[in-house]
Amino acid sequence: MRYISTRGARAASPSAAFCDILLGGLAPDGGLYLPESYPRVTPAELAEWRELPYHALALRILQKFVDDIPACDLKTLADRTYTAATYRHCRPGRDASDITPLTTLEPGFHLLELSNGPTLAFKDMAMQLLGNLFEYVLDKRGENINILGATSGDTGSAAEYAMRGKHNVKVFMLSPEGRMSPFQRAQMYSLQDENIFNIAVRGMFDDAQDIVKAVSNDAAFKAKYRIGAVNSINWARVLAQVVYYFKGWFAATTRNDEQVAFCVPSGNFGNICAGHIARMMGLPIARLVLATNENDVLDEFFRTGVYRPRRTAETHVTSSPSMDISKASNFERFVFDLVGRDPAVVRELWAKVDAGGSFDLNGTPYRERMAGFGFVSGRSTHADRLATIRDVWERHGTMIDTHTADGVKVAREHREPGLPMVVLETAQPVKFSETIREALGRDPVRPKDFDGIEDLPQRVEVMDADTEAVKRFIVARV
Ligand SMILES: *Cc1c(COP(=O)(O)O)cnc(C)c1O
Repeated sequence: MRYISTRGARAASPSAAFCDILLGGLAPDGGLYLPESYPRVTPAELAEWRELPYHALALRILQKFVDDIPACDLKTLADRTYTAATYRHCRPGRDASDITPLTTLEPGFHLLELSNGPTLAFKDMAMQLLGNLFEYVLDKRGENINILGATSGDTGSAAEYAMRGKHNVKVFMLSPEGRMSPFQRAQMYSLQDENIFNIAVRGMFDDAQDIVKAVSNDAAFKAKYRIGAVNSINWARVLAQVVYYFKGWFAATTRNDEQVAFCVPSGNFGNICAGHIARMMGLPIARLVLATNENDVLDEFFRTGVYRPRRTAETHVTSSPSMDISKASNFERFVFDLVGRDPAVVRELWAKVDAGGSFDLNGTPYRERMAGFGFVSGRSTHADRLATIRDVWERHGTMIDTHTADGVKVAREHREPGLPMVVLETAQPVKFSETIREALGRDPVRPKDFDGIEDLPQRVEVMDADTEAVKRFIVARV
């Protein structure tokens, strides 16, 4: 399987193998990588896969996209990544070896638990695999990498827990000082591994993000110090996420001719992009329901056909903070498919986006085609979130986090008779305890391994939002 850029400038971005795009970010022409075609899943495969444990299912799907890692090595990587021990933080009574257990709230309405990994957010599902893939490929090549990232919470901790202890990877993670919840701070800063460096920047998330961009734009520094990234445009992360759509579909159906709807709390369009790819592979997904919070760029697009990224200053700070985005970095992948995989059209549309503008598909053939991709959407507000958390707790005795609540709220608006709805549960409530207390007047449930983590010693360097200072810090440690 070869990979191509959504912007398709063949001279700048010739097609590439999986391992060659694994460690990089954007294609050299500024586009995102996608497989040159989507492998299809046959009815016979679906029938066989239904009974497989998660790691074996993951291997089957990975093999369709990865042909430059020997099958036996890929199997070792999948087996090591998806273990009951790593995903043990599930609800009482659930089977951790399911990896992503299904919780049925009422007949035909389910939660797919994706947040039972080490950092209690769905980002572990992909990041854990990425950690093992990085280590494997770097080992083969005798190379190492220094990952630089900025986080407002979930991404940074997932990356650190995936990379901790890996001898050929160091992580430099910038976070805004004092802006994350005490639980999120404790998760990241209490790591004592020698290859993990936490840097708290005096400023906001965007200041941290700007430093990462400035360092990445310094090509000489980037090459000399082997700076890499693990952001949500990484193809391997999207690929890893395809697996749980299959797993969720099997769990919600009994026969292979049954359709399912998935509802996905969305930010950068990474998670739901994997659902789109599962559907393109032939998984019977009738509907992909996209849920946003007050940052509703994507809801606006699916309702109106207009994509209007906001300026960073217009981004709302909400109680589902991992969905607080101004533009959706993976969205270009979907638009590439929507416009019939014509890179010239993508280049034209993103020339507008990259210049700070918007685009409007009304009056183009693509507007009508949108319906064929199964997407519908909705948005949720702080008041909706509180009401939904309360309602699900009171009626079902199940505590959900703020992002999942956005999903449940929007999913309820899009239920169709006879069509099972699976809402992706993207985090556990303990990560966002302030809003849980506001909704329920009680503390969130806390998986027992996390008792008292706020009291552990923390390891973090506090710094001004100064690119040169961050560079000096890196140089002194690589
Ligand atoms: C990252 C994140 C999201 C958004 O996922 P995307 O892939 O960016 O759409 C939603 N919920 C939680 C809890 C997250 O951490």
